[in-house]
Amino acid sequence: MTTPADRLRAVRDRVDAAARAAGRDPASVTLLAVSKTWPAATVRELAALGQADFGENRAQELAGKAAELTDLPLRWHFVGQLQRNKAAAVARLGAVVHSVDRLSLARALGRAGAEAGRPVEVFLQVDLGGPQGEAAARGGADPAEVPALADAVADTEGVSLRGLMAVAPRGAAPGPAFARLAALAERVRADHPGARDLSAGMSADLEDALVAGSTLVRVGTALFGVRPLPCGQDESHQSHGSQQPG
Ligand SMILES: *Cc1c(COP(=O)(O)O)cnc(C)c1O
Repeated sequence: MTTPADRLRAVRDRVDAAARAAGRDPASVTLLAVSKTWPAATVRELAALGQADFGENRAQELAGKAAELTDLPLRWHFVGQLQRNKAAAVARLGAVVHSVDRLSLARALGRAGAEAGRPVEVFLQVDLGGPQGEAAARGGADPAEVPALADAVADTEGVSLRGLMAVAPRGAAPGPAFARLAALAERVRADHPGARDLSAGMSADLEDALVAGSTLVRVGTALFGVRPLPCGQDESHQSHGSQQPG
């Protein structure tokens, strides 16, 4: 049986090996533990092993865990689709938001950041499309619109633009998609030098992301095991019609 310590070491070894193979300093890569669906006690266990960055994809779940873990020096990240009316709550927790894909959301976060006197760090989520090039329906801005969105977000009070984020398309090779993301990130960075981070790579594809220059990998399954329920991001795909399961 593997322990959390075994799994954390194995993931760190993967990150370090992939970074070195790409000629990069492993210390330049942040490991974000995506703890969605797992209880606060599981977060506490990993924190005791030195893990500091944790990610959630539902505002309520984040607020609940953060409240249970205020005694720990954790950095929270929000990686799910975020409704504007939940933005202030997420911002108040000091969370880094990886999923900004529209200006209205950046403005809502900015208002909360300005009120708190602490800018909200944000990533712009890019839609890398599906295997046939269709919109991936997992959130994210159209790549063609990202440079203009970056300009507008950079001009928004109360937010600080850290870079771009993306999820690799399902059912397609992640490498070429991450390469497109990296090219877009470079273009954004030319105009906004502070946007130096790239949030890309998950359990299955972190090596490909590190080749493309990811500075922050978001890992759930490889650290915690297979999630007990379909992850929260899929809830938005549930049918609102009359279709019955089974
Ligand atoms: C769940 C999730 C992850 C982690 O995925 P794993 O495949 O479990 O490592 C990373 N990023 C986002 C946006 C997620 O929703």
